[in-house]
Amino acid sequence: MSDAIRPQPGILDIALYEGGKSHVAGIQNALKLSSNENPFGPSPKAKEAFLRSVHTLHRYPSTDHAGLRHAIAEVHGLDPTRVICGVGSDEIITFLCQAYAGPHTDVVFTEHGFLMYRISALAVGANPVEVPERERTTDVDAILAACTPHTRLVFLANPNTPTGTMIGQADLARLAAGLPAQAILVLDGAYAEYVPGYDAGLALIEERGNVVMTRTFSKIYGLGGLRVGWGYGPKAIIDVLNRIRGPFNLSTTQLETAEAAVRDQDHIARCRADNARWRIWLAEALAEIGVPSDTSMANFILARFSDTEEAEACDLHLQTQGLIVRRVAGYKLPHCLRITIGDEASCRRVAHAISQFKRMR
Ligand SMILES: *Cc1c(COP(=O)(O)O)cnc(C)c1O
Repeated sequence: MSDAIRPQPGILDIALYEGGKSHVAGIQNALKLSSNENPFGPSPKAKEAFLRSVHTLHRYPSTDHAGLRHAIAEVHGLDPTRVICGVGSDEIITFLCQAYAGPHTDVVFTEHGFLMYRISALAVGANPVEVPERERTTDVDAILAACTPHTRLVFLANPNTPTGTMIGQADLARLAAGLPAQAILVLDGAYAEYVPGYDAGLALIEERGNVVMTRTFSKIYGLGGLRVGWGYGPKAIIDVLNRIRGPFNLSTTQLETAEAAVRDQDHIARCRADNARWRIWLAEALAEIGVPSDTSMANFILARFSDTEEAEACDLHLQTQGLIVRRVAGYKLPHCLRITIGDEASCRRVAHAISQFKRMR
């Protein structure tokens, strides 16, 4: 290939995204606790909608997503004209970077934050700016101190991953109020449904003109394989994002399955309650055997070991027991393992295997 053929600046700086492992060599039916998936899967009503969609596959899908947008708006009390749907919340993140960042602009995110923020920033030639956290928790002052006249986007997952920690309304309000005038605060609510009573930033969106939220069907809705997410924000910003959204970005199957899923809030409430119960149980069981974790508000815990060597050895032991958890060295936490909260039996298996590991040392 000719040397003259080169990608845009920034692209070659992107490290390929590695998802959670799903197989262990030589082990059948390993239990995957590495991607924060809902162990119960989606609502049965979503599965029925998925199957029904086979009858209309010869038709192009809706371009305006009216059915899904209205369902989301009804359930959350939103203005349907300000909801935008995408191929996972990843696509909403991509739209935000395409529309508001680019060469000579800064995209800010936290030290242990989601890898997609860096990838999406580099993909549009923007400068990724990583801000330290304090004890694995978002530090609002550090984010504000990192903002400059070049800052266009500030991404914050709340609760955050892989830490599981979150900051409260007062801190969020202080962050939104302190940003420079040209910057948008993007609150990634991938785990918002796991936090009882949390509005995912909605009040802040209504109060200010510089806040957007992203949400997903991949976590509590149990539809990671379907790829649907959405965003909500000021009308002017959503209008901009819709200009770069492909007219047929979501299939009929995606739209109808997600709509049935969001309408079944009983399923979501059951999953939320079960997750909270077993998250607390697992965190306590691990703490008792000398594996601490920060209080998590999401569907995983970040187990801390004495050092990288112990975390890696524990991961290898778990693999021999058919348990796959997430190494998070790529998130600058090499001494930790992120463990998704599965069902009761999975949590008991993980606790048993880690306690076995601790006794062997
Ligand atoms: C899992 C996750 C998402 C979801 O991404 P999708 O593209 O909607 O599957 C978004 N943000 C964070 C922080 C996540 O952990």
